[in-house]
Amino acid sequence: KPVILWLRRDFRLHDHPAMVAAEKTGAPVICVFIHDEIVAGTGAAAKWRWGEAIASFAARLEEIGSRLILRKGAALEVLQGLVQETGATQVHWSRAYDPASIARDRAVKAALREGGIGAHSHKGHLMFEPWDVATGKGEPYKVYTPYWNAVKGRGVDTPCDTVRALAAPETWPDSETLASWQMGAQMRRGGPVLAEHACIGEASAQGRMASFFGNKIDDYKAARDQVDQKGTSNLSENLTYGEISPRSLWHSGWARMEAGSAGAETFLKELVWREFAWHLLYHFPTLDHENWRAEWNGFGWRRDNNDAEAWRRGRTGEPFVDAAMREMFVTGQMHNRARMIVASYLTKHLMTDWRVGLRWFEDCLTDWDPASNAMGWQWVAGCGPDAAPYFRVFNPETQAQKFDPDGRYRRAWIAEGQPQPGKTALQYFDAIPKSWRMSADDRYPPRLVDLKEGREKALAAYERHKKG
Ligand code: FAD
Repeated sequence: KPVILWLRRDFRLHDHPAMVAAEKTGAPVICVFIHDEIVAGTGAAAKWRWGEAIASFAARLEEIGSRLILRKGAALEVLQGLVQETGATQVHWSRAYDPASIARDRAVKAALREGGIGAHSHKGHLMFEPWDVATGKGEPYKVYTPYWNAVKGRGVDTPCDTVRALAAPETWPDSETLASWQMGAQMRRGGPVLAEHACIGEASAQGRMASFFGNKIDDYKAARDQVDQKGTSNLSENLTYGEISPRSLWHSGWARMEAGSAGAETFLKELVWREFAWHLLYHFPTLDHENWRAEWNGFGWRRDNNDAEAWRRGRTGEPFVDAAMREMFVTGQMHNRARMIVASYLTKHLMTDWRVGLRWFEDCLTDWDPASNAMGWQWVAGCGPDAAPYFRVFNPETQAQKFDPDGRYRRAWIAEGQPQPGKTALQYFDAIPKSWRMSADDRYPPRLVDLKEGREKALAAYERHKKG
């Protein structure tokens, strides 16, 4: 009798506890991916990227004599159908920690068990289960540094062995085709964008990891903030889809730290920011739509507006902000420093609600992760746990001088006004919808807001709000 392995965001053969558990049963393993309402509701770029992860992993499974079965529908119905068709006795999966997935998985587990089917969830997406880390009072952490201090010494489980073969069933259940799902249909982008910039699949992720540990980690501490350099690992999209395991990154990073690499500890701390984000979302499930600090409710942020639309289109007249917004539209990626700057500009200079920005990121990022995105936006806006204070307003001009000193990044993304704009700057105009009516020959727009004035207005609004 076969067992079912329900894949979600865990497209790897290395360090995959759920897959190892399924394999260890000795029974044939049927791997399935279910296009359910959670997949359907994912932002455009992330959904496209999810499709690429599926395609790549399906090929990887074939290399080890297995297959990925694709089915569309409500998860429980699909699983129950598969159990009936195949006579499977167990279902295994890697845990997810966002509220919608938790609710779905709980219901699936209960119903399967009620029907006499073994339902087993496993760790794998995170290094630390959110409920395993608690303060002395048994409460969740709300501040990063104590969280880091709590986890850094406790050790991370050794990654499990790579799966080299999965026993195949005598007959395979039917599979839908990935093409019929049209995972990229909502992207509304022209030209060969995203695909050119994405690093898809387990093998590519491992290559990227090797290159990071081989060439970049020692300089990571100094280089990670320079938007004009490629000083970071770029592994976030792979972590999002589970193409690389956080535990394997941790152990490689730890070994480098012990060998005296200055950048390695900083890298481990960043990996732990990801864990902390999931810790927060798990314990505070409204993190992605409610101000975490209730005293921010009623603050004078504007709802969506024309300035926010200019922000989305990279037409604010603020070159660093526009460069970053265009980079994200074309590549599905944005440097962390740039994320902080564009988020600050939107929520402070443009006085627009952080949720407007959060939703655009959700639609555009290929590394979209509900926890890191929510934590990042609330951190910048000032209303989150362990947030930057609201009055710390990033100045995009001075940030550009520091982190893009010779303007390389801005030139790479802004074509207007350049006699011979480069490839990426022009790619933006191939990618955007025609209805935006923008051309590389346009005049670059004047600033939407004077930086000093915008800052003062934001601070005045903050003072008014504080006084009630
Ligand atoms: P590296 O510098 O190489 O770091 C290694 C890994 O550590 C990253 O891959 C990531 O998993 C983790 N990490 C690094 N910085 C952070 C951070 N600040 N918060 C949480 N984890 C971190 N990250 C996402 O993965 N998905 C998102 O949707 C997302 N949205 C964000 C929105 C805002 C407003 C902000 C300020 C940050 C957001 N981040 C998000 C965090 C961060 O910008 C990205 O993780 C980082 O830019 C990815 O690049 P990298 O893989 O080269 O990171």
